Amino acid sequence: MEMDLFTKIMIGFALGIIAGLILQEEAAMFAFLGTILVNLLQMIVAPLVFCVIVGAIANIGKGNKVGRIGLKTVMWFLGTTLFAILIGLFFANLLNVGTGVTIPTPGDAAEVTESAEGFSIIDTIVNIVPVSIFEALAENNLLAIIFFALLLGFSILALGESGKKVRDFFNTGQNLMMRLTEIILKFTPIGVFGLMADVVGSTGLDILFPYAKAIIALFLACILFLVIVQAGILVGGVVKISPIRFLREMKDPMAFVFATCSSVATLPLTLKATLRLGADEDTTNFVVPLGSVINMNGTAIYQAVSVIFVAQIYGVELSIATQLMVMLTATLASIGTAGVPGSGLIMSVIVLEAAGLPLAGVALLAGIDRIMNMGRVVPNIVGDAVTALLVSKSEGTLNVNNLEENKKAG
Ligand code: ASP
Repeated sequence: MEMDLFTKIMIGFALGIIAGLILQEEAAMFAFLGTILVNLLQMIVAPLVFCVIVGAIANIGKGNKVGRIGLKTVMWFLGTTLFAILIGLFFANLLNVGTGVTIPTPGDAAEVTESAEGFSIIDTIVNIVPVSIFEALAENNLLAIIFFALLLGFSILALGESGKKVRDFFNTGQNLMMRLTEIILKFTPIGVFGLMADVVGSTGLDILFPYAKAIIALFLACILFLVIVQAGILVGGVVKISPIRFLREMKDPMAFVFATCSSVATLPLTLKATLRLGADEDTTNFVVPLGSVINMNGTAIYQAVSVIFVAQIYGVELSIATQLMVMLTATLASIGTAGVPGSGLIMSVIVLEAAGLPLAGVALLAGIDRIMNMGRVVPNIVGDAVTALLVSKSEGTLNVNNLEENKKAG
């Protein structure tokens, strides 16, 4: 029987700790495995984001109604994502998730930290427009990649029927990148082994404490986010569906996504549950699939927690300008995150880079990624369903009372 990836990562994690304890400083010889993992994750970022965004836009359809629904949807997606990041930053700072152990900063970090300090708003805006898309892809310049991908996506949309071939090309490209991500992540157990051996070899078991704090901070932040934004304001107040009923209808997709860590794989279940809750079909079929690709509230929370975790572990202070940069980048990173297991980890490459933090931090995060993924993926899908309900309500098409009818439809 083939072992699942989670079990393999946990074995790599445990063996790494054992190797570190036995070999102590000499375990540093395995550090290169962690570096290979970081390289692999960096390698896939640009093509993954590019294909995900172009595909998401090229598929949204046309017409006034779509324009209106689209605007409301995207505004709500962005607003909740920013709020999610704030909650993530709050809990990460409250628990000081990265304190308890300090790992010396690798050589390249000082340089990157300097560039983060020289941050300027005007430069950031100018750099959104790439001189060359190839340069942007080569440098993992997320803003520029998203800018170009949006333009390209809308141009494909404008081509209508004659753009079908290009659209199909990008749809296949999206699936291809997701498959490639899966393949790359197969290396995670080995990378995690190398990194844990190195870290435990040089600092002992102290790293386990920050790990536990980061996991707790993420879960607390996700729960609070769900309660305040989704259950409280929306389900209870604005949309007026009781949280109990919401949970009853959503429990299957929530359990499924928790186990599979993929919002895209859960899409059919989320769609059905949203329809059963009373959102109309047009809105649901537009909002939920788009959300499964670009709306990742839990991933946004995760990016905030992971930046604080890595910064504190390496003893780097984050200036206000850097923290603003983190918010912007984490928002974009969550938009560019594909709905497949582990893609949030890949996107943390971008966020750490923007904060001027050592990229070796990504390999540190990889050790606990599956558990973090299980937590963050639930708000990801709940956010999509709630947005569909909210937009449907604002269009006057929400039908919350007729559960039996909705059941048939779903
Ligand atoms: N796996 C998550 C999802 O499918 C994304 C992530 O890794 O954060 O929504």
